[in-house]
Amino acid sequence: MRRKLVVGNWKMHGSNAATAELLSELLRLLPPLKSTDVAVCPPFVYLTAACQRLVDSPIKLGAQNVGAAEQGAFTGEIAASMLRDCGCDFAIVGHSERRHLFAESNEQVAEKAAIALRHELTPIICVGESLAEREAGKTLDVIARQLEAIFGRFNTAELNSVVIAYEPVWAIGTGRTATPAQAQEVHAFIRQRLQINNAAAVSILYGGSVKAENAKALFVQADIDGGLVGGASLNAEEFAAICRAAE
Ligand code: PEP
Repeated sequence: MRRKLVVGNWKMHGSNAATAELLSELLRLLPPLKSTDVAVCPPFVYLTAACQRLVDSPIKLGAQNVGAAEQGAFTGEIAASMLRDCGCDFAIVGHSERRHLFAESNEQVAEKAAIALRHELTPIICVGESLAEREAGKTLDVIARQLEAIFGRFNTAELNSVVIAYEPVWAIGTGRTATPAQAQEVHAFIRQRLQINNAAAVSILYGGSVKAENAKALFVQADIDGGLVGGASLNAEEFAAICRAAE
């Protein structure tokens, strides 16, 4: 039985004070969960403070991105080893905002996932189609191409150590969620591709306007193993309710 995982992606929001407050609230509101893991991904500069707050807590820490090189002259980049050093267990790679606003290619995303794994970070690899691609009937082709770059880069053991997040671009931050049936269709496709590559047990998260009110209907789908949550993760009550819905 796959464990559920709910990850909060705080994006470029917050401050020292807001990070402390949000985490305290979350720790207060989150009940003990038996079958669900929870992680938050604050901006890089708040990772250390967040890590200190989360010591001995069930909430894990992740980064929103990772540099594609080990170290060196890459101004503004953050290495996987540094994220590990700051207490991260996860790193999101290939978020659609990185792919579209910062032109990250499938190959760069695969490279980032590989370097994360090398440093014992679980990469949460995001895939998803744009609205135009969905409307043109190309959703599964796009997802297949994004996955191929990962399959081509990893051996079976490595592949079994990643998390995939299906995030339809048209549902991110728009308030427009994929219906449970739309999400399940793509998740089942991803599961089938993973199975062909001997990695059927990899967790597949859904992301795109997940909220307390729609979380349960998504999380009960056969191939949805939890959520990658943006906006709603900035509200402790809402995020705690989403985590409860995953149980
Ligand atoms: C995200 O940032 O990964 C995301 C899914 O955002 P939102 O929940 O706000 O749509």
